[in-house]
Amino acid sequence: MSNDRLVDVAGKLDLLKERFRERAVTDVASVVADLGADAGVEPGREQLVNAYRTLHRLAGSAGTFGFQALGNEARSLEVHLKPFAEEQDASQKLRASGLTSLDPEFLERVRGLAQLLVPGESAREAPEPVTHRETVLSEQPEIMIIDPDLARAESLATALSPHGFIVHCRQVPEPTDLPVSAIIVREGTLSAKSQLAKNAVDVAPLVFIAPDDSFDRRYALAALGADGFASEPVDVPALADSIERLINERHEAGAGRVLVVDDDPELLEHYALVLEDSGLEVRCVGDPSTLLGALSEFRPDIVLMDVQMGEYNGPTLARMLRFDPEWVGLQIIFLSSDEDREFQFGALSEGGDDFLTKPVSDRILVQAAKVRCYRARQLDKLASRDSLTGLLKHSVALAEAVKEHARCHRLGEPSVLAMLDLDHFKQVNDRHGHRVGDLVIKGLANLLRHRLRKTDTIGRYGGEEFIVVLPDCSVGNAVRSLQEICHQMAQIRFGGASGEFSVTLSVGLAALDRYDSADKAIEAADRALYQRKAAGRNGVTCDAGHMEPDQDSPVL
Ligand code: GH3
Ligand code: MG
Ligand code: MG
Repeated sequence: MSNDRLVDVAGKLDLLKERFRERAVTDVASVVADLGADAGVEPGREQLVNAYRTLHRLAGSAGTFGFQALGNEARSLEVHLKPFAEEQDASQKLRASGLTSLDPEFLERVRGLAQLLVPGESAREAPEPVTHRETVLSEQPEIMIIDPDLARAESLATALSPHGFIVHCRQVPEPTDLPVSAIIVREGTLSAKSQLAKNAVDVAPLVFIAPDDSFDRRYALAALGADGFASEPVDVPALADSIERLINERHEAGAGRVLVVDDDPELLEHYALVLEDSGLEVRCVGDPSTLLGALSEFRPDIVLMDVQMGEYNGPTLARMLRFDPEWVGLQIIFLSSDEDREFQFGALSEGGDDFLTKPVSDRILVQAAKVRCYRARQLDKLASRDSLTGLLKHSVALAEAVKEHARCHRLGEPSVLAMLDLDHFKQVNDRHGHRVGDLVIKGLANLLRHRLRKTDTIGRYGGEEFIVVLPDCSVGNAVRSLQEICHQMAQIRFGGASGEFSVTLSVGLAALDRYDSADKAIEAADRALYQRKAAGRNGVTCDAGHMEPDQDSPVL
């Protein structure tokens, strides 16, 4: 994170704190007026309810802006007032209890609230540092090999590059400004993680290569901070797959989409700034009646929701969301200043998943949101992703193809659908075993992820068959990029029982926008794939009616 951005965020948070303070001055004055603390007028039910709500809001927000003492005092006064605000005959009960509007001690504390509004009473927590560089997926990840033997490093780099990585080689560990997503280190070249960066937290995942595999060696490297391990002779596809997994884990641990629902504008903006600053995507909803639209449009991983929002109540909103099967699995976390456990359990039974008690510190807010986003994403993956490759499952990929078909028709944009199938794959299994076959399938999946755009859909259609949807793409461009993928696949060397081997790939494609339905485009791409297989495999064929890829005709 640049210094400019740090200053920018800190400046915005200070402005919010000032805005909160100004509003709190008004809030405190209104509590004093509602309770008749200055005028000596006995409050009616409406005034009691208003004063209670204002104190409740102050109790939940003041701490976030650094006014802890004000928050604590507001909470204590709120607790005193709560039973009377809930009673129909509140003012009579108030009188009967002896706690009247003229009660000197209570009113003195109400008047004293204003003195707790001292600016800068406590410093705001430092914003959570961004702990690692953001990895942009679907662009070729850059990795670094550190090995004193440069020739050996370069030979490994050559073997890894067809897997879709850009590889840099270094003889000694040194801090770098390259956007490195993973580092492969030869054992013995590194004695501390901090040798790789000024700030040790910033180090990309480390995979060590050791001369042999033993428990002691693995343990020693784990103690040094290794994230992955490989031993000589290096199984390159397995190493590529473990790097891929580490990069994805890193990326997913810090990513997420959070929808925050709160009717307090300063608090809402504060949460958004703090969460965004930690790398999460945030959408704010200040008016709960706009919640459904925001959910459909933003599709968050989790929702952070205030409990009391004027005429709306968080648990009731959660219950309402669960009417729709689409939101049944959505994680809803309540932000509640209510410490009443009974109330919290009741709210959970209405359809919430968890509680954060207000005031929430910035650090807890970020940690809680990240952990929950990560879990939500993992669950979503289990449901929609193929477990071997992490690509979309058949049904999900088909649904994406149908969506893209509708979109490209509506906008009149070119779009391409391709079916991919590994060549003679049965022989791979027969000769080298199912486990090696699985590595080949994963190898192609990773290659597709690296070489296609983030906006493309990649699905595992069947065993060794894949489906790809390329929105806003001409047939000519699709052919070029898929031919390049065929070429790279053929270059990957896999290690089998009887030595190294490579596997080729056949592709059939069809212009999605030229067909009445996604199903018809899939049939056409399948026909083209069949033709490719008959014509010798290892390459790309377009559906009949379109030019062949190697013809020199104009690109569609
Ligand atoms: P072609 O070039 O004509 O496509 O020949 P092929 O051998 O690739 O095609 P075929 O459909 O005859 O065989 C596909 C093989 O893929 C058969 C099946 O055992 C294997 N397979 C399917 N799913 C998996 C999997 O998840 N892992 C492994 N290792 N093999 C799989
Ligand atoms: Mg096949
Ligand atoms: Mg097949």
